[in-house]
Amino acid sequence: MKKNIGKTRIGFFSLSCCEGCELAVLELNRDFVNALGFVEILESRILREKNPEQELGIAFVEGSIVGKDDLEKIQKIRQRSKFLVAMGACATIAGIPGIRNSLPEKTKSALPLHAVKKPLAAVHRLSDFVKVDFELQGCAINEKEFLKILVQLHHGFFPRLEEVPVCKECKEKENPCLLLKGIACLGPVTYAGCDALCPGVKAQCIGCRGFTKDANFASLKSMFKEFGLKGNEIKNLFTYFNNNPFEKGGF
Ligand code: SF4
Ligand code: SF4
Ligand code: SF4
Repeated sequence: MKKNIGKTRIGFFSLSCCEGCELAVLELNRDFVNALGFVEILESRILREKNPEQELGIAFVEGSIVGKDDLEKIQKIRQRSKFLVAMGACATIAGIPGIRNSLPEKTKSALPLHAVKKPLAAVHRLSDFVKVDFELQGCAINEKEFLKILVQLHHGFFPRLEEVPVCKECKEKENPCLLLKGIACLGPVTYAGCDALCPGVKAQCIGCRGFTKDANFASLKSMFKEFGLKGNEIKNLFTYFNNNPFEKGGF
């Protein structure tokens, strides 16, 4: 007889971000409605669900830690959640809010953080401050990857995603390689999972899914120099999404 494992209690939370990753989940449409057969959503600003006292099986958290409010929020979420998933580039690699980390001090002071109470000295990903059990990459996340790991976690399996660079998916789709045309593409050092979305429309990969563990930055940087890119242009490309202050990429 099929074992009844009950519904998994989940919550969606947003720190400093555009909330695009939670919206990507809603784009699952019918699959999202079907998922409600095995999950119970206890927290979601967009879906107007709020149950702050209840424990969660899985917390999905998007957004970066920009101010002390974000920090206090993520610590409380961690305390009440068995499994915490950082969702999207803001949460996993500091992402778009993290661009601030790479700006000169003069520019930063000209861009005050009006909306953020008590900003921290730098913008952080979640794992700088709390234990993160799994990272779902991308800006925005791939909703099919979200569904896959939700099903795996519901059935008690630790999720696994393939750790290969964007180039693998790009080759599988038989896209012409942009590097051969002298266009600086970060596909060789960026985690796949987006179906090589940008090269598929002839746009360079700018690293929104984070860098692979074995990334050969030196070789790619010297190639970009040969393409005629200046030092600051190379730095801007590598740090467009990957702006974590605790990581020294040497850009
Ligand atoms: S990762 Fe991108 S889509 Fe997701 S919350 Fe951040 S900026 Fe928005
Ligand atoms: S276009 Fe970019 S992602 Fe595609 S194969 Fe070339 S370097 Fe890799
Ligand atoms: S190709 Fe690169 S920048 Fe574009 S979606 Fe994929 S990982 Fe992100």
